Amino acid sequence: MSALSDADRLLIEAASDAIRKRYRYDWQEVGAAIRLRSGKIFTGVSLDAYLGRMAVCAEAVALGQAVTEGEMGIDTIVAVRHPAPDEKNREIVVVSPCGACRELIWDYDRRAKVIVPGPQGPHSVGIGELIPNKYSRERVT
Ligand SMILES: [Zn+2]
Repeated sequence: MSALSDADRLLIEAASDAIRKRYRYDWQEVGAAIRLRSGKIFTGVSLDAYLGRMAVCAEAVALGQAVTEGEMGIDTIVAVRHPAPDEKNREIVVVSPCGACRELIWDYDRRAKVIVPGPQGPHSVGIGELIPNKYSRERVT
């Protein structure tokens, strides 16, 4: 676990901007931003669907943007959730990636860092800390 850098705070802001612009109740509620080792930042928003199993997380959309542009090498990724109109908490907050996104992030870069919420506020952890003993076809030594 490590404290956030200025670049990490900018990444949270990029994810927040993405969902602030595209928020739609029940359809786009989560924003994500990914910073690659090249320094480039890509953002995405969640794609909810009438059939829930068809939904796509914001992290996957942001990663897809990067891969589409030929970029690889995840430095850090973050997701933020926009509040619903009837929620008392009106702030956009950092959320942990779901289990499927943890798998996806690990598959694309085992050295990736993820900004997650915590009792003292958001902080950065390695993806390996979020998905210990992950399934792998390779023999782990
Ligand atoms: Zn997810």
